[in-house]
Amino acid sequence: MKASDIFKCKQCGDCCKGYGGTFVTDKDIDAIAEYIHTDPGTFVENYCRMSGGKPVLAQGKNGYCIFWDKLCTIHPVKPRMCKAWPFIRSVLIDKNNWSIMGGSCPGILTDVPCHVVERCVREELSKSS
Ligand code: SF4
Ligand code: SF4
Repeated sequence: MKASDIFKCKQCGDCCKGYGGTFVTDKDIDAIAEYIHTDPGTFVENYCRMSGGKPVLAQGKNGYCIFWDKLCTIHPVKPRMCKAWPFIRSVLIDKNNWSIMGGSCPGILTDVPCHVVERCVREELSKSS
Protein backbone atom coordinates (compact mmCIF):
# COMPACT_ATOMS: atom_id res chain seq x y z
CA MET A 1 0.00 0.00 0.00
CA LYS A 2 1.19 3.45 -0.80
CA ALA A 3 0.20 6.95 0.29
CA SER A 4 -2.40 7.32 -2.46
CA ASP A 5 -4.08 4.11 -1.23
CA ILE A 6 -4.62 5.38 2.29
CA PHE A 7 -5.62 8.95 1.46
CA LYS A 8 -7.81 10.23 -1.36
CA CYS A 9 -9.04 13.79 -0.95
CA LYS A 10 -12.83 14.01 -1.44
CA GLN A 11 -12.59 17.77 -1.88
CA CYS A 12 -15.24 18.34 0.75
CA GLY A 13 -13.44 21.43 2.04
CA ASP A 14 -13.84 20.53 5.71
CA CYS A 15 -10.13 21.03 6.39
CA CYS A 16 -10.35 24.52 4.90
CA LYS A 17 -13.01 25.58 7.39
CA GLY A 18 -12.93 26.64 11.00
CA TYR A 19 -10.47 28.48 13.11
CA GLY A 20 -7.27 26.56 13.43
CA GLY A 21 -4.83 28.66 11.62
CA THR A 22 -3.08 27.70 8.45
CA PHE A 23 0.40 29.02 9.08
CA VAL A 24 2.31 30.38 6.14
CA THR A 25 6.09 30.21 5.94
CA ASP A 26 8.16 32.96 4.29
CA LYS A 27 8.43 30.69 1.26
CA ASP A 28 4.63 30.23 1.19
CA ILE A 29 4.15 33.99 1.45
CA ASP A 30 6.46 34.69 -1.49
CA ALA A 31 4.87 31.99 -3.66
CA ILE A 32 1.26 32.97 -2.91
CA ALA A 33 1.97 36.68 -3.32
CA GLU A 34 3.50 36.06 -6.73
CA TYR A 35 0.60 33.78 -7.72
CA ILE A 36 -2.01 36.40 -6.88
CA HIS A 37 0.09 39.19 -8.37
CA THR A 38 0.85 41.17 -5.27
CA ASP A 39 3.86 41.73 -3.06
CA PRO A 40 4.55 39.78 0.15
CA GLY A 41 3.78 42.72 2.48
CA THR A 42 0.43 43.44 0.86
CA PHE A 43 -0.44 39.75 0.88
CA VAL A 44 0.19 39.45 4.63
CA GLU A 45 -1.74 42.64 5.31
CA ASN A 46 -4.78 41.70 3.21
CA TYR A 47 -5.00 37.92 3.41
CA CYS A 48 -3.49 36.98 6.77
CA ARG A 49 -4.15 37.40 10.47
CA MET A 50 -1.52 37.13 13.17
CA SER A 51 -1.61 34.19 15.54
CA GLY A 52 1.05 33.85 18.19
CA GLY A 53 3.10 36.41 16.30
CA LYS A 54 2.97 34.40 13.07
CA PRO A 55 0.84 34.97 9.99
CA VAL A 56 -1.99 32.54 9.32
CA LEU A 57 -4.40 32.64 6.39
CA ALA A 58 -7.50 34.72 7.13
CA GLN A 59 -11.02 33.32 7.00
CA GLY A 60 -13.93 34.64 5.05
CA LYS A 61 -17.31 35.41 6.65
CA ASN A 62 -18.43 31.86 5.80
CA GLY A 63 -15.76 30.48 8.11
CA TYR A 64 -13.72 29.04 5.30
CA CYS A 65 -10.17 29.95 4.41
CA ILE A 66 -10.10 33.14 2.40
CA PHE A 67 -8.82 31.14 -0.58
CA TRP A 68 -11.58 28.52 -0.53
CA ASP A 69 -14.19 28.78 -3.26
CA LYS A 70 -15.57 25.27 -3.69
CA LEU A 71 -11.95 24.31 -4.15
CA CYS A 72 -8.61 25.77 -3.23
CA THR A 73 -8.07 28.77 -5.48
CA ILE A 74 -4.34 28.81 -4.83
CA HIS A 75 -3.85 25.07 -5.20
CA PRO A 76 -0.47 25.19 -7.05
CA VAL A 77 1.05 27.35 -4.31
CA LYS A 78 -1.01 26.38 -1.26
CA PRO A 79 0.90 26.54 2.03
CA ARG A 80 3.20 23.74 3.03
CA MET A 81 0.76 22.78 5.79
CA CYS A 82 -2.02 22.21 3.25
CA LYS A 83 0.22 20.34 0.81
CA ALA A 84 1.49 17.97 3.47
CA TRP A 85 -1.90 16.94 4.86
CA PRO A 86 -2.42 14.29 6.15
CA PHE A 87 1.17 13.02 6.02
CA ILE A 88 2.35 15.10 8.92
CA ARG A 89 4.90 14.62 11.65
CA SER A 90 2.39 14.43 14.47
CA VAL A 91 1.24 11.05 13.12
CA LEU A 92 4.73 9.71 13.78
CA ILE A 93 4.65 11.11 17.30
CA ASP A 94 1.32 9.46 18.13
CA LYS A 95 -0.12 6.85 15.75
CA ASN A 96 -3.61 7.51 17.17
CA ASN A 97 -3.54 10.87 15.43
CA TRP A 98 -4.17 9.15 12.10
CA SER A 99 -7.56 7.84 13.16
CA ILE A 100 -8.39 11.05 15.04
CA MET A 101 -7.67 13.00 11.86
CA GLY A 102 -9.74 10.46 9.95
CA GLY A 103 -12.72 11.43 12.11
CA SER A 104 -12.77 14.87 10.51
CA CYS A 105 -11.28 14.11 7.10
CA PRO A 106 -13.30 11.67 4.98
CA GLY A 107 -10.35 11.18 2.62
CA ILE A 108 -8.33 9.33 5.24
CA LEU A 109 -8.62 5.57 5.29
CA THR A 110 -8.39 4.56 8.92
CA ASP A 111 -8.63 0.80 8.59
CA VAL A 112 -4.94 0.51 7.85
CA PRO A 113 -2.20 -1.14 9.94
CA CYS A 114 -0.09 1.34 11.91
CA HIS A 115 3.15 0.29 10.26
CA VAL A 116 1.70 1.06 6.82
CA VAL A 117 0.57 4.52 7.94
CA GLU A 118 3.98 5.19 9.47
CA ARG A 119 5.84 4.10 6.34
CA CYS A 120 3.63 6.24 4.09
CA VAL A 121 4.03 9.28 6.33
CA ARG A 122 7.81 8.85 6.38
CA GLU A 123 7.94 8.47 2.60
CA GLU A 124 5.80 11.54 1.98
CA LEU A 125 7.73 13.64 4.52
CA SER A 126 11.02 12.69 2.89
CA LYS A 127 9.69 13.87 -0.47
CA SER A 128 8.81 17.28 0.91
CA SER A 129 11.99 17.85 2.92
S1 SF4 B 1 -11.20 17.25 4.86
FE1 SF4 B 1 -9.96 15.67 3.86
S2 SF4 B 1 -11.22 14.96 2.14
FE2 SF4 B 1 -12.05 16.93 2.81
S3 SF4 B 1 -11.00 18.45 1.49
FE3 SF4 B 1 -9.83 18.24 3.39
S4 SF4 B 1 -8.24 16.74 2.90
FE4 SF4 B 1 -9.85 16.52 1.35
S1 SF4 C 1 -4.92 27.43 1.19
FE1 SF4 C 1 -6.30 26.15 0.04
S2 SF4 C 1 -6.05 24.09 0.89
FE2 SF4 C 1 -5.19 25.53 2.36
S3 SF4 C 1 -6.83 26.01 3.83
FE3 SF4 C 1 -6.90 27.54 2.20
S4 SF4 C 1 -8.35 26.80 0.66
FE4 SF4 C 1 -7.76 25.07 1.99
